[in-house]
Amino acid sequence: MGEFELIRRYFDRPLPAWAQEAVALGVGDDCALLQPREGMQWAVSTDMLVAGRHFFEDVAPEALGHKALAVNLSDLAACGARPLAFTLALALPEANSAWLAAFAHGLFAQAQAHQCALVGGDTTRGPLTISITVFGEVPVGQALLRSGAQQGDDVWVSGHLGDAALALGALQGRWSLPEPVLQTARLRLERPSARTALGQALRGLATACADVSDGLLGDLGHILQRSAVGAELDWSIASNLIANNPYGTSGNGGFYLKERHWQGCVLAGGDDYELVFTAPAAQREAVVQAGRSSHTPVTRIGRIVAGAGVVVHGGAGQLIALPRGGFDHFDG
Ligand code: ADP
Ligand code: MG
Repeated sequence: MGEFELIRRYFDRPLPAWAQEAVALGVGDDCALLQPREGMQWAVSTDMLVAGRHFFEDVAPEALGHKALAVNLSDLAACGARPLAFTLALALPEANSAWLAAFAHGLFAQAQAHQCALVGGDTTRGPLTISITVFGEVPVGQALLRSGAQQGDDVWVSGHLGDAALALGALQGRWSLPEPVLQTARLRLERPSARTALGQALRGLATACADVSDGLLGDLGHILQRSAVGAELDWSIASNLIANNPYGTSGNGGFYLKERHWQGCVLAGGDDYELVFTAPAAQREAVVQAGRSSHTPVTRIGRIVAGAGVVVHGGAGQLIALPRGGFDHFDG
C-alpha cells in the first residue's frame, strides 16, 4: 500500500455535516480551508506523541488514536475554545492495515465525540510518531489564559487526578496494583477525556486555566508564574481526587501504596488531562453550576495568595513534603 492509498483508505473521509460551516475544504488538496466566523479568534495548539517516550510501542492502536486527539483537545479545553478541526502528521515504521484501521477508529470516534474534523496532514515512514495540530474557536477576548489568577481567587480542578500516574507506575514495575484497580486506572492513562465542555462553560468565570498534562504542581505552577502569584493547597481535599484511593475508602477493596507515592501520583503525576483553574470566591456557585452543566465534577482545592510557588498543607494544617514538580522531558 502506497502513501496515497493509505491516506485514501484510512484518513480521507467525507466531512461530517457538523463540520461544514467551519471547514470549506478538507483532506485532498494542498491546503485545507477553514472559514473563520465573525467575532471569533482561532485557538491553535500542537502536541506530539513519540513511541517509547509518550506511550508504550505496543499500546492498543485504537487507544492511541483516541489519546493522540484527546491530548490536543485538552489544550483547546484549557483555553475555553470550541474544537473545530485538526491536522495529523504521522510517521509509521510500516503500513500495517490492522493497526491503521484500529488507530483510525479510535481517532475518528474522538473526532466525532468532540465535533473536531480531520482536514489534512502528512504521512511518512519513520519511527512511530503522531503529531496533531488542533484548531478551535473562541469569542474575541474570551480565551482562558494562564496569566489572570488574582490573590484571593479559589483554585479548582476538574475530575480526578493521579490515576494515570498510578497505572503508569504499575506498568513500569514501581509498585503493584490489584488487577481491577490497574484496569480502571489504565483506562485513565490510555483513554483520557478532554474537558472541552467545562472549558467553554468557564469562559467569563475562570481568571486563569491550564490543563493538567505534566502534573498538578507543574501545571498550576505555570499559572502562578504567568500570574505572578502563589497558591496554598489543602492535601486533605486534594488527596481524595484520585479515583483509586490506595486505602480503599472508595470501595475498591484497598491496597497499599506508600503515602509519598500517593502524593506523587496526585500532585505530580502527569497524563490526567483535567483542568486546573482559578476563579474569584464570589463565583463559587457559578463554577459549581458550570461543572453541573458540563457534567464534569469540580473540586475546590485551595486558594491564590501573594508570593510565588505552591504550598501544600496536610490534613492537620502541617506542611507536607512536596514531590518533585511536574514531569519535564529534558530533566533526567
Ligand atoms: P503535499 O505533498 O501537498 O503535502 P500529501 O501528498 O502529503 O500533500 O497529502 C495529500 C493530501 O492528503 C493532503 O490534502 C494532505 O493534507 C492529506 N494527508 C496526508 N496525510 C494525511 C493524514 N495522515 N491524515 C489526513 N490527511 C492527510
Ligand atoms: Mg506531504
